[in-house]
Amino acid sequence: MGSSPLPVSLQSKFQRPRAASRLRDLRGNVNILRNIIFALFLLRIVRKSFWFLRGHGIFGSVVVLYRHLHKTAYTVFLNLPGVKSQVSKQLEVAKKEIEDKLVPTGPGVTRYLQLPKEPWTRDQLNAELESLATMKRTRWEEGKVSGAVYHGEQFLLDIQSDAMKLFSVANPIHADVFPAVRKMEAEVVAMVLSLFNAPASGAGTTTSGGTESILMACLSARQKGYAERRIREPEMIIPSTAHAAFHKAASYFKIKLHLVDCPAPEYMVDIKRVRRLINPNTVLLVGSAPNYPHGIVDNIPALSKLAVSYKIPLHVDCCLGSFIMPCLSKAGFPSPWADEGGFDFRQPGVTSISVDTHKYGFAPKGNSCVLYRNRQLREYQYFVCPEWSGGVYGSPTIAGSRPGALIAGCWASMMSIGEKGYVDATHKIVSTKLTIENAIKEHPVLKETLRILGRPMVSVVAFDSADPTISIYDIADAMSRRQWHLNSLQDPPGVHVAVTLPMTRPGSVDVLIDDLVAVVAEEKEKAVERIKAGGPIDQAKAKGSSAQLYGVAGSLPDKSIVKELVVAYLDTLYKA
Ligand SMILES: *Cc1c(COP(=O)(O)O)cnc(C)c1O
Repeated sequence: MGSSPLPVSLQSKFQRPRAASRLRDLRGNVNILRNIIFALFLLRIVRKSFWFLRGHGIFGSVVVLYRHLHKTAYTVFLNLPGVKSQVSKQLEVAKKEIEDKLVPTGPGVTRYLQLPKEPWTRDQLNAELESLATMKRTRWEEGKVSGAVYHGEQFLLDIQSDAMKLFSVANPIHADVFPAVRKMEAEVVAMVLSLFNAPASGAGTTTSGGTESILMACLSARQKGYAERRIREPEMIIPSTAHAAFHKAASYFKIKLHLVDCPAPEYMVDIKRVRRLINPNTVLLVGSAPNYPHGIVDNIPALSKLAVSYKIPLHVDCCLGSFIMPCLSKAGFPSPWADEGGFDFRQPGVTSISVDTHKYGFAPKGNSCVLYRNRQLREYQYFVCPEWSGGVYGSPTIAGSRPGALIAGCWASMMSIGEKGYVDATHKIVSTKLTIENAIKEHPVLKETLRILGRPMVSVVAFDSADPTISIYDIADAMSRRQWHLNSLQDPPGVHVAVTLPMTRPGSVDVLIDDLVAVVAEEKEKAVERIKAGGPIDQAKAKGSSAQLYGVAGSLPDKSIVKELVVAYLDTLYKA
């Protein structure tokens, strides 16, 4: 205290202002910092708004905003006490229906919920397996199922079982223990790369199915974006018709998803909109060859041009197209974009392609390939963990241990069908698709009521109702009652048939067309009666199950009810 050299009066005169100025300095600095942070914050909002407005346009942005508000209002409505209890009552009924349909009960059914204390004898086991195999089920053999079973001939099933039996213990994670499976796996990838015109630098892996192939391609693109461009908030732009697996990838890997419309009459992704949505965070563009809903091949050459000029990876989903796409010309059909350089690696912008060997490659289920333009892109999907206490670890895809038997089954299928076999199969399948397409366009009953969506060039033909008095979902339900398993589509409403080899068996497609004609005639008659009786002209109050799910629930802005139904379905799958 006494050390102060100045008198008290002077101390206060000199020191107080000094302290005050220090405080003022500090305040000034804090202000500058605050302004910088605020400016950065503002910049971020402005940047985001800019890319949002540029991506959707002014009108589009208003629509997005309106949809959001509409959905929020609807969610509030669903949660009103009276509404909520009604909804949950209805949901319980629907859940019970799902369970009754899927889980067999009754006196004849034994449920096994614990291990048998004593091991079963071979006879006992065989008897039970026989009875399981003859459980009431859909007869895909009669060619009445869209998609699902792609080949199914006994000779191929025998070849696959034999190959899988030989390698039933094999696991490619131990490449040294199972060298033959490593060799077969590498050869499957090499053969598929060559089918899709990969350059010499091309590389790929096998996966457990189309979904995993797509997950890997999206992961690779995201990792590339981070490694090479430090993108921390990755975004990808996909056609609205692209497979649900891209939504799964977006959800698993935290990639923001932009859906682009595929407008009528072509039902291909709108290239202008894709271009507008590209921004510095875009890590991947996507096109389908063809897509699942309508069987339409997107404009891959135009997407490739975008990919090249913006230096963004482009994935072509050829999961469904699989071996049909590369065989179209050889089977005598026009091949999409052949005049513009094709749909595969011949397009310089295409960086990855997914190909399901378990679809039109006719391999056993659990087989697919993801292909890349070069090894660096493949490396981005690898998982390497050098520090694991269990040892240095690395794996190419999601699974650790993998079924070597499936790889043997895939290899054996490809070798025993060969190029000629695939070209023949393509011929049968695409001819059958053409027969259905022509019937819908030309049959006097069908052509008035049904309308083909786009110009399908592969194995799928999709159609909707051109007659406002008839709901396409009622047609789907009526076809189900005739044992047909067609697939219902939404946004826009429709139905499709994915032709596979069982449907190309003699007679099958004729029954399909006859049934379709009969069903359409019946629905027309019903509509006439309904309108005569003063009923509604358009078909909003549909009764059947797909009509309910897609016609009523599907039109709700808030999908939480549909979600609950799906969860109930998934839960039911695990009810023993
Ligand atoms: C079937 C399919 C997939 C994914 O296939 P899974 O093998 O079922 O995982 C992806 N894209 C398209 C277009 C498909 O048809």
